[in-house]
Amino acid sequence: MCSSIPRTLISVKIVFSDTPPYFLDLDAPTLGAEEFTANGVTHWRTWCGYCDEWHQHGPGEGHRIAHCIKETPYSETGYNLALQAGDT
Ligand SMILES: [Zn+2]
Repeated sequence: MCSSIPRTLISVKIVFSDTPPYFLDLDAPTLGAEEFTANGVTHWRTWCGYCDEWHQHGPGEGHRIAHCIKETPYSETGYNLALQAGDT
C-alpha cells in the first residue's frame, strides 16, 4: 500500500503554552524576534527582509499572522517568533 502523504495537506501545530495563541506552526518559518519597550509597554519585533522593515507584535513565542505590507512568502503561512538574546 502506498503510504506517502501529500505534505501540503498536513498542517502541524505544536501547542507549548497555556496561553493562546502560542503555538508553533511547522509549516511556517521561524523568525528571530527582539524585545523592546515603548511607553512602558513591552513589544516584540522581527525584521522582515521582504518588507524591509520591522514587524511589531505582542510579546510571546509562537505563531503570528504576518504583518507584511505586501504579498510575501509569509503572507500565507505567517511565521513563528522566537526570542533572540538582546544586546543587554
Ligand atoms: Zn513582511
